Amino acid sequence: MEQASRNKRGFKLSAIISFVVLISVLVTIVITTIVSYQAEKKSLYTNTIELNNINAKDMSKATQSLVLSMKKSIKVTAEYFSDETLTDENVLSQLDFFMNTNHYFNSIVIVNVDGTVVSTSPNNLGLIGEKLNSNAAQKALELKAPLISEPYQAVTKRLIVLVSHPIFDSEGNYKGFVAGSIYLQQPNIFQEILGTQNKNNNGSYFYVVDSSGTLIYHPDTNRIAQKVNENPVVKQLMKGVSGQQHVINSLGISYLAGYAIVKEVGWGIVSQTPESYINSTTQKLIEKTVYFSMPYLFILLIMTLWLSRKLTYPLNRLANYASRLSQGDHQLESIPVYTYWNYETNELTKTIALAFDRMKKKTDELSQEAQTDALTGLANRRTMQAITSLWKEQEIPFSIIMVDLDRFKLVNDTYGHQKGDEVLKFLAQMMMDEKRDQDFCCRYGGEEFTILLPETSEKEAYLIAERLRMKMATLISPIGRSVTLSLGISANSHAGEDLDTLLQYADEALYAAKEQGRNQTVMYSKMYRKEVETVK
Ligand code: GH3
Ligand code: MG
Ligand code: MG
Repeated sequence: MEQASRNKRGFKLSAIISFVVLISVLVTIVITTIVSYQAEKKSLYTNTIELNNINAKDMSKATQSLVLSMKKSIKVTAEYFSDETLTDENVLSQLDFFMNTNHYFNSIVIVNVDGTVVSTSPNNLGLIGEKLNSNAAQKALELKAPLISEPYQAVTKRLIVLVSHPIFDSEGNYKGFVAGSIYLQQPNIFQEILGTQNKNNNGSYFYVVDSSGTLIYHPDTNRIAQKVNENPVVKQLMKGVSGQQHVINSLGISYLAGYAIVKEVGWGIVSQTPESYINSTTQKLIEKTVYFSMPYLFILLIMTLWLSRKLTYPLNRLANYASRLSQGDHQLESIPVYTYWNYETNELTKTIALAFDRMKKKTDELSQEAQTDALTGLANRRTMQAITSLWKEQEIPFSIIMVDLDRFKLVNDTYGHQKGDEVLKFLAQMMMDEKRDQDFCCRYGGEEFTILLPETSEKEAYLIAERLRMKMATLISPIGRSVTLSLGISANSHAGEDLDTLLQYADEALYAAKEQGRNQTVMYSKMYRKEVETVK
């Protein structure tokens, strides 16, 4: 029920303003957040993938020069041993020397023309005297040329990559080869270089594949030697293409990858960052933004509430006045006009105040018209009733003088109705002049008037009536001569009789005055005691 009436009366303007502002702000924040989320994500995506591309390229260059240095180092070693007897005692210490100075390999071996290991560094490999029959060793013997092998399992069961260089003596006879091994699953030169690059904790890492798509280096050593040639990035590398792209790896994880070829060996370097990093970073950024904007949002809310209250305060005031008006609050004199800081409110207040004043004036006029007689300006019969009933309520005793013009019909007939009206006005003015402040003069009927006299005895009223009668008799009226009055008096000294009864009494007294010859005053109380006083 209350809800229904509230809906009917409408929502408060301040609530509507606050609501609209709050909704606008919230929508703006949401839209801005979504847009900045998208923009941030996109830029982070682009930056990350480009960074990976640059990293892959840089690393490819580094690897290229590493491979070249390795090859050169093995070449220098091979050339050093060209005229040495490979089985000689000091070959071993020379080999140790090379091993310790270049730092590229996990081990170095010297293999003779038969493919038998004749010297190793470190010398505890247990390989001396072993015949190497791996593809890589066979190929080195066959081709008698510098080689870098694909990863393979050596006799030692280790997964290795072999970098070899043939040994020729000064006459050009082939004597075998020197080979440096990199143990792929043990700490090695790749781990040293590629592993240390992965220090930022955004989940980025490098991996290296050889030309057949086999993993040579991966931070997860268990994955080394796995064939990953189904990976789209690896496919590109195997085609000899460098670039950057979004990729889902063999484990189903989404990455942003940059990749580059190491030309010298046909290997591929991939630098990649999990896409989840971008999402979580962007999310954190948004969370931060929301977190930081919270206090401002709160301040904005308070300000909105304050401002909307301030804006709508004058309107509320007006609405309040209007509501009091509609409920008929008579105490309301007029609407106070303050100057507010809002133009529309000022105009509205002024207009409503003006309209209110006009209305009040009109109402006053109307009630004046309702209370008075148009011709004479005296109170009318209704007002007379209102006054006497108030006195009765307050138990104020009063007397009534009823006044009637003598032979007024004759005046009308002789001088015309208009002159008759003037005589009526003349009499009214005379009564007003003669009456006391507390008395009320009324036009009771056509040419009959009453005077209401509070706290006045019949006797006192009589004296006043006589003064009036005598004055009238001496004045020259608008018809050029005096006109006379007959007056009847009644009093409710006990405040017991009602108005109609008193009027009737007064009328009877007046009638008696007419009967006795007019131009005289009769008190009702004296009528039946045969003590009617007559003053000529
Ligand atoms: P009396 O009272 O002395 O017995 O004689 P009268 O001629 O006054 O008698 P009556 O009361 O019968 O006549 C009253 C006249 O007053 C009749 C009417 O024409 C006149 N009259 C009543 N109201 C008005 C008015 O508003 N203007 C004018 N000019 N005459 C009025
Ligand atoms: Mg009369
Ligand atoms: Mg008369």
